[in-house]
Amino acid sequence: MSTLSWRAGSKLAEQAVNGFATQLRGELIRPGDAQFEEARKVYNGMIDKRPALIVRCKDTTDVKNAVNFARNNQMTVAIRGGGHNGPGLGTCDDGLVIDLSEMRAVQVDRSSNTVRVEGGCVWGDVDKATHEFGLAVPSGILSSTGVGGLTLGGGTGYLSRHYGLTIDNLLEVEIVLADGSCLTANSNANADLFWAVRGGGGNFGVVTSFLFKANPVEIVYGGPMFWPLELSADLLRFWQDFILSAPENINGWFAFATVPPVAPFPEQYHLQKMCAVVWCYTGDIAEAESTFEPIRKFSSPAIDFAGPLPFPALQSMFDALYPAGLQWYWRADFFNHFDDKAIDLHVKHGSQLPTMFSTMHIYPINGAVQHVGGQDTPWGYRDANFAQVIVGVDTDPNNNARLQDWAHSYWQALHPFSAGGGYVNMIMDEGEDRVKAAYRDNYPRLAQIKAKHDPQNFFHVNQNIKPAQ
Ligand SMILES: Cc1cc2nc3c(=O)[nH]c(=O)nc-3n(C[C@H](O)[C@H](O)[C@H](O)COP(=O)(O)OP(=O)(O)OC[C@H]3O[C@@H](n4cnc5c(N)ncnc54)[C@H](O)[C@@H]3O)c2cc1C
Repeated sequence: MSTLSWRAGSKLAEQAVNGFATQLRGELIRPGDAQFEEARKVYNGMIDKRPALIVRCKDTTDVKNAVNFARNNQMTVAIRGGGHNGPGLGTCDDGLVIDLSEMRAVQVDRSSNTVRVEGGCVWGDVDKATHEFGLAVPSGILSSTGVGGLTLGGGTGYLSRHYGLTIDNLLEVEIVLADGSCLTANSNANADLFWAVRGGGGNFGVVTSFLFKANPVEIVYGGPMFWPLELSADLLRFWQDFILSAPENINGWFAFATVPPVAPFPEQYHLQKMCAVVWCYTGDIAEAESTFEPIRKFSSPAIDFAGPLPFPALQSMFDALYPAGLQWYWRADFFNHFDDKAIDLHVKHGSQLPTMFSTMHIYPINGAVQHVGGQDTPWGYRDANFAQVIVGVDTDPNNNARLQDWAHSYWQALHPFSAGGGYVNMIMDEGEDRVKAAYRDNYPRLAQIKAKHDPQNFFHVNQNIKPAQ
């Protein structure tokens, strides 16, 4: 789609844009406006797109007006929730960005243990509101990630083994479709659409509000434990066996990481590459020490920060380490099991992290995630045990080629051992085959629903599902 017919500065174009601006409660930001340079930025500093217009929506009516304006003027549209997407799918060149960052209301209903969340919230907004009532919605591992993108792609994190993916806790959405209409979708109303948004990304419309089930989570026992790099093969083996048979209220993701040169990390380990597991136990706190005994017995951790803490503190523990604006490049795959060969390759590549911020994570997705059937949502890997992501990160754009080379060769080495596809929220712009591989047998049904609700593929700035012909 082109945007340029009205961008040439003609009187008609200006009139149309001015008319659009007067319909809005929110702000319309154009190139040349004082806020434009700041407003066009997304979390990944590697993304450098220049939209023609950015609409900071205040409510659903603004979203509807934005969708109608873009469609009537044949503009490309990008939907921006938290702006965290790796390949920058919350923005676009020359098109219209529907920026939801000012739609951040959260309302907890204690009588039903549910929480209604506006489409532009980040997880910290939700965690703060639900924690007041001793509740939490399963999300990811940082509090600055957007609810919109993370939820619509699935959502793996600290609570996955106990309470499932984020989509497994989604009860309803309010969504603005490509024709500008607004629907409620849940298991009774517009059930096909409700199925599709539980993993199908931003392909079906702009979600202006989410209704989640919230679960009892208050003080958890969690945090990172680090071991010397020399132990990484043994740790990977131990952790894999442990997490595959652990009670569902224990989560722990494996990482290769560099110890940041700041307190509270002990100085002797600053800038050392190490292997780690970041834990989150949601069971009885009185039993936490005995639960963690076998882990500490495996080998006494060099750095041990695991202990009792409020869930939002764990969720935001790494926020400061990864502020917006860093350069990010990542590659992902699902795995059933890591055999000795795969573990050797992990040790080889994981010990060569190219920069201090670069890392590799393996999130367990067994436990409650596997209680949901393979066709019950579009999420394509209910039978896999692990979601792996290799992440090259740095402050300096001059290192981008190094980040990409490392992440790509690490991914290539491990890919033959994978279950086939990667998690849509952690792949880059990798082409149609990778999108299909992420959804496996659920892709054709997604394509049918896309054809019904968005036959022109108006919402295509995403991990795109092509409308079935
Ligand atoms: C530092 C970091 C940590 C992360 N940790 C995790 C993690 O622990 N677990 C996990 O599952 N994922 C994680 N992710 C991946 C994350 O889920 C994706 O990057 C996701 O796309 C981010 O959502 P967003 O709303 O912030 O992004 P945006 O860039 O705003 O949007 C991403 C995509 O979602 C669509 N979208 C966003 N909001 C809406 C909406 N309201 N309606 C319709 N479409 C919408 C957009 O169209 C776009 O295609 C992490 C990402 C980063 C950068």
